[in-house]
Amino acid sequence: MSESTIILRSARRKRTVALHVQPDGTLCVQAPLRTSVAWINRFIESKTAWVARRRARAQEKAARPALIVEEGAFVPYQGQPRRIRLVAEDAAVESDEIFLPLPAGLSDEGRLVEAQTELTLWYKRQARRVFAKRMAYWAERLGLRPSRLIVTAPLRQWGSCSATNDIRLNWRLIMAAPELLDYVIVHELCHIPHKNHGRAFWRSVEAAMPDAKALRRTLRAWENSGHQHC
Ligand SMILES: [Zn+2]
Repeated sequence: MSESTIILRSARRKRTVALHVQPDGTLCVQAPLRTSVAWINRFIESKTAWVARRRARAQEKAARPALIVEEGAFVPYQGQPRRIRLVAEDAAVESDEIFLPLPAGLSDEGRLVEAQTELTLWYKRQARRVFAKRMAYWAERLGLRPSRLIVTAPLRQWGSCSATNDIRLNWRLIMAAPELLDYVIVHELCHIPHKNHGRAFWRSVEAAMPDAKALRRTLRAWENSGHQHC
């Protein structure tokens, strides 16, 4: 884990200094052109506790193993473990197991990479189907109309709602318990009338979903548990 600091100066930045801890632990400081090094150092010092917390979190994330996609392994789907079966071709079997088709003649390493890719494709297919269904349910129930549902993979967030009411959902939510998916959907739908996180926004989220606050905390905990990394 890096303990180093990079200072980036930008003419576009007018007054504020921004701190960001990179995945490898490097502290990145963005400052306006004219800020003195002494001032920047004092500023960093005043944020020591924050930086330490962020570095600890980065270290924790780096230590997490990625999902191993091999025959018989379990991976999360809608909050439950599902068993992986590697098969010769696309098997349409009624089963709770996930059948991943693998071409014959691959090396062990090749199988692992291929299985990983096939699992991601499988997750995305399920995500498009399940998300559309849940979105339709909540849109109807709340009387809110999103323009489009886009299933995507933003790295930093679970969902977003654009100025034109396009709702984007991170496909990795398919691994989470259904109520966490519902929370993100309700959250983004409530951004259709409220383009901020003000009081009126949270009132409408909680009116739709009384346990929204608890679900938000659970989502954070799940996110930090690392199981969604594929
Ligand atoms: Zn929001």
